[in-house]
Amino acid sequence: MFSSMHAHSVQELHFCQKESLNAVVALHNLRLGPALGGCRFIEYSSEQDAIEDAMRLAKGMTYKAALARVPHGGGKAVIMKPQGEFDREHLFKLFGQFVETLGGRYISAMDSGTQVSDMDVMRAQTTFVSSSSNIGDPSPSTAYGMLLGVECAVRFKMNQSLSGVTVAIQGLGHVGFALADHLHKAGCKLIVCDVDEQKTQLAQQLFNAKVVSVDDIYSQVCDVYSPCGLGGAINAETVGKLNCKIIAGCANNQLAQDELALTLHDMGILYAPDYVINSGGLVFASSCFRGMGHKEIEREIHKLKDTLNKIFVLSKQKNAPCNFIANEMAEQILYGSNQHRDWIQEAV
Ligand code: NAD
Repeated sequence: MFSSMHAHSVQELHFCQKESLNAVVALHNLRLGPALGGCRFIEYSSEQDAIEDAMRLAKGMTYKAALARVPHGGGKAVIMKPQGEFDREHLFKLFGQFVETLGGRYISAMDSGTQVSDMDVMRAQTTFVSSSSNIGDPSPSTAYGMLLGVECAVRFKMNQSLSGVTVAIQGLGHVGFALADHLHKAGCKLIVCDVDEQKTQLAQQLFNAKVVSVDDIYSQVCDVYSPCGLGGAINAETVGKLNCKIIAGCANNQLAQDELALTLHDMGILYAPDYVINSGGLVFASSCFRGMGHKEIEREIHKLKDTLNKIFVLSKQKNAPCNFIANEMAEQILYGSNQHRDWIQEAV
């Protein structure tokens, strides 16, 4: 376990086993402030998978917070979804009590599988929770930031507005569906897929989207491929099928291995780093937690365009993959040392 923590550079792992609750909180780095990160509630095939997921996601949150300039560190919680019947309210009550014991080192929020009502249950046990109903779901802010990010990537790569651009969206969940709505209104043509047929049917009706199977989404001829389901969508098997100019999606950890960024770069595909383009929800959750108003929050979300533009420009100038540039910029903010080249120091 310690070598695995070292490999992910995760500083702390906290576990809770109580009645039906099997939960892990991974704290990656608290240099910029208390960790803020969602709580994932999905089924895992093993405890090891759950722990690995928490650690990988926690690191992404540290980098996301650094580049979004919010005063938070990176952390993530995973609750292993029990098989069969369980008392959901009781489970999240126990989890809220667990978060309280961490004394504010970790602030929880929504993530895949959790909803505002779960956060409300936790809120009765701890103040260290965002996205309860007094604050709201961060997904609309993530989707709004995604719209800005897709627009920015299209402008950079294709030198045009969103009108007439074809976007293939993989996963029509809280963010993917709202993004589809924004893009439809902006004049995009949509191709969609989801394991849930009801969602694809609705997208077909509302946005005139072309529906394809979950296996066929990768090979669709499109301008933008937008992975909005779970992580690892771009892997050794799928990368060769891609037929797009840009990858811009909200899913965390889209690249199964970091090195795939090089492959995408060599293929001439512009990859908008996931943790930068999907940072709208974190900005929302952090800003609400700090008592900021809506106008101010919107202004904060708009800043992700500048960050993305800097990354795209540097990627082109230095002939380096976008997420290598993003990682270096985040590390410069986090560690501030002169381990990085001058141009990175200037960029941040
Ligand atoms: P969600 O659970 O609401 O949506 C995921 C969607 O993907 C669901 O509709 C699901 O049916 C679909 N899906 C699952 N497997 C699929 C497959 N193989 N092919 C196609 N579709 C599939 O989650 P969400 O909140 O929309 O988040 C989506 C992703 O974005 C996650 O990786 C999440 O961590 C990340 N993210 C979300 C937010 C946010 O504010 N919600 C913020 C940042 C990052």
